Amino acid sequence: MSLHGPYDDNNIFAKILRGDMPAVKVFEDDVALAFLDIFPQSRGHTLVIPKHVRARNLLEMPADALGPYMLRVQHIAKAVEAALKPDGVFVAQFNGAPAGQTIFHLHFHIIPRWDNEAMKGHGQAPKADMDALNALAAQIKAAL
Ligand code: AMP
Repeated sequence: MSLHGPYDDNNIFAKILRGDMPAVKVFEDDVALAFLDIFPQSRGHTLVIPKHVRARNLLEMPADALGPYMLRVQHIAKAVEAALKPDGVFVAQFNGAPAGQTIFHLHFHIIPRWDNEAMKGHGQAPKADMDALNALAAQIKAAL
């Protein structure tokens, strides 16, 4: 998928937003939904997606929706930091397949990093244990 093209209403994140697919949610309001990545690159890898937009990437995000959405990205990054006490937080976002994007609904990755702990590669992490993900989600929710 290139940088430009039609929005696919059946992409995984659109399905999660509609409730057609499950997600381990940590936050939801009228602007954004945050949930844990099921192939986490580190413990607590969280995704934040905007609601009520059909933006495949950052370039397509309506300007008036961007500010409120980015506030949620920061809010979740702070909660992840408060809950898990990482030494750093990597915030990443990919636009178009050549840049590494695999799901074409805008999302930011919030990836906690610890000293001397390697991060798994993008698209190279194994599926998480669901009990572990649910426990992490409870920790992050408690820090919101
Ligand atoms: P990107 O490659 O930037 O488009 O990121 C998509 C992310 O979604 C990857 O980190 C995947 O591990 C993650 N992912 C794929 N399917 C799911 C799912 N069902 N629930 C949560 N995260 C997912």
